[in-house]
Amino acid sequence: MDKWPLGVFASIDAGLGVRLEVAHELGVPTIQLHAPQRATRTADNAKRFLARLEELGIRITVVFGGFEGESYADIPTVARTVGLVPPATRDVRLAEMKEIADFARLLGVDAVGLHIGFIPHETEDSLYRGAVAVTRELCDHCRNNGQNLHLETGQEAADNLLEFIAEVNRENLFVNFDPANMILYGCGEPIDALRMVGSYVRSVHCKDAKWASHPGRDWGAEVPLGEGDVGFEAFLRTLKEIGYTGPLTIEREIPQEPSRQKEEIGRGIRLLNELKAKVG
Ligand code: MG
Repeated sequence: MDKWPLGVFASIDAGLGVRLEVAHELGVPTIQLHAPQRATRTADNAKRFLARLEELGIRITVVFGGFEGESYADIPTVARTVGLVPPATRDVRLAEMKEIADFARLLGVDAVGLHIGFIPHETEDSLYRGAVAVTRELCDHCRNNGQNLHLETGQEAADNLLEFIAEVNRENLFVNFDPANMILYGCGEPIDALRMVGSYVRSVHCKDAKWASHPGRDWGAEVPLGEGDVGFEAFLRTLKEIGYTGPLTIEREIPQEPSRQKEEIGRGIRLLNELKAKVG
């Protein structure tokens, strides 16, 4: 595989990201796929979908899970509703995440990703112990599928994430590094964080954002790639430093404006190609 193949975050019938046809028009060789709705996750659909991807010359690198009832409205709402941490929905979501991993296996994909949710800081907290236990169980399910599990970054600082990974203690647990989330959630300088968690990074989101005036209390603002505070030349240089050669997957979440989304991702692709030529 070429170093740093470009990709986009994409979906079939549910979830975030661009449609598959748009990924094709953008000319990228890889996608991360946001899991389709349950009714779609059948063996027949997997076969059909794989045939379509082969026609388009696109390869799936990670299947991302997401759940009904998640809301990214503001930071407290994320803590309450997102991922496997909230206890009320944990068992149902764990079962669904296992189904998503099984569907990813039908697609021949060896990595599954998700926002695990806000990991509490207090390691003796029952919420923390529950998050560790559920992540272990999901890792073990993925391992039986020959898959790795990638935790999306951003909802905690790098040192908390490292501590959590060590506590879960599973060989197939890795990181999907999203530098914009570090800024959006106010969880630390993304380049420093990337260095810290570098040995765990197996996939990345190329997404950009501007810091909030009160980071960690208010949301930062997601902006087109290259217009925010990440600094993508430094980002690529740091990826090189940590030895990351995997896909550069562009994520731009403005699903309500598909034509602007496509145009902005197109500009992002041009920027990343320039930086690859310069830094790679
Ligand atoms: Mg992301």
